[in-house]
Amino acid sequence: MFDTPKLSEFVLLFFFLLETVGLGKISPLAAPPDWDWLANCAHTMTREEFARMLQNHYARNEAAAGWVELEEGGVRIRTVGDTWQNVPFATEATGTAPGLARFWRKASEMAPAPEAKPLLGVKIAIDPGHLGGAWAAMEERFFQVGKTLPVAEGDLTLAVAKRLKPMLEKLGAQVVLLRKSDKPVTPLRAKTLESAAAAELTGDFSADRLRRQSELFFYRISEIRARARMVNERLKPDLVLCLHMNAEEWGEPEHPQLQPRNHLHALVNGNYGPRELESEDIREEMLAQLFGRITEEAIPLCESVVEALAEETGLPPFTYFSNNASRVGDGAYLYSRNLLANRLYRAPVVFLEPYVMNSSPVWKRVQMGDYSGTKLVDGQPRKSLVNEYALGVTEGLVRYFRRERPPAK
Ligand SMILES: [Zn+2]
Repeated sequence: MFDTPKLSEFVLLFFFLLETVGLGKISPLAAPPDWDWLANCAHTMTREEFARMLQNHYARNEAAAGWVELEEGGVRIRTVGDTWQNVPFATEATGTAPGLARFWRKASEMAPAPEAKPLLGVKIAIDPGHLGGAWAAMEERFFQVGKTLPVAEGDLTLAVAKRLKPMLEKLGAQVVLLRKSDKPVTPLRAKTLESAAAAELTGDFSADRLRRQSELFFYRISEIRARARMVNERLKPDLVLCLHMNAEEWGEPEHPQLQPRNHLHALVNGNYGPRELESEDIREEMLAQLFGRITEEAIPLCESVVEALAEETGLPPFTYFSNNASRVGDGAYLYSRNLLANRLYRAPVVFLEPYVMNSSPVWKRVQMGDYSGTKLVDGQPRKSLVNEYALGVTEGLVRYFRRERPPAK
């Protein structure tokens, strides 16, 4: 079903290698953005709506100053180079009319669903975070205590995705996994990306530094961009579930530090920083999220899923002390943060970070493997990690769609 988008990958690499300096700053492996859609946003949002989303959610603390200027009747946006484009505001709230063509549907726009199938017809893409198997060590999302079972985030998220798919399908959803094996989606590899990686490094750098930068371009940037094209151009889902697991600093992967801290949080796209907004592509992506009203659907959806996951796992909330994330909503578990995946996917994204992989209880549960029913962990009956994660997510989606879909007549 997913033929590899080889051609477009290489076209993008070509764009990157072309000097785009004269046009403005573009982030690694991004194509120069197409701003044509902005003209369609005229009169779709009131000044109050736009200002609230920009100042409280997307670009807090004046982060967009110099790029996005609010005026009385409209907003001036710096697009390509020194070009500014004006988007007039609507005089009254239009509520749902998006300025961008969108493929995803709000739950409230869907047809009523029968009680037993609350997810009937909902198109869900599951994004199992990272890569697994032999790729996990390169990504540094892997550790092993002695000769025990290794812990690799990408293998765990894939196991959860595979458990989740039939559970959601039973409730009526149409589910596709962005990756079905431990292998990457992108056809590019670190070697192919060396010249792009070298362009990013400044001053003298060692061969080892170049190798690490090329690997980062491969598994983080090229891989997520390939998944984004799958989401936006082919799958066009109503929502995306990005499955991850968290970790605390573990030191050497062969001699990892296990520690007691264990927690949960979810992320919704937002909280862009001033440095990020200097890049034309990131600015365009933020405004597409804002005018597309994606966050308006994503916030309550994320809240529902993370709260159900908190109940199922019993995990306490994680607290950010850095300023790259900001608390959202009334609960303790949801933060806004600008990540490549939740920015590039042009649909509501639920980005989940339950469990600290190198906490003693989670490590112990990974060693126990997958099982049905419960087993005793530190004297408490617990489901397997994979089952618990999948059940929490399912329950959160069921609650959200039961509440938001129109009632059956
Ligand atoms: Zn992760």
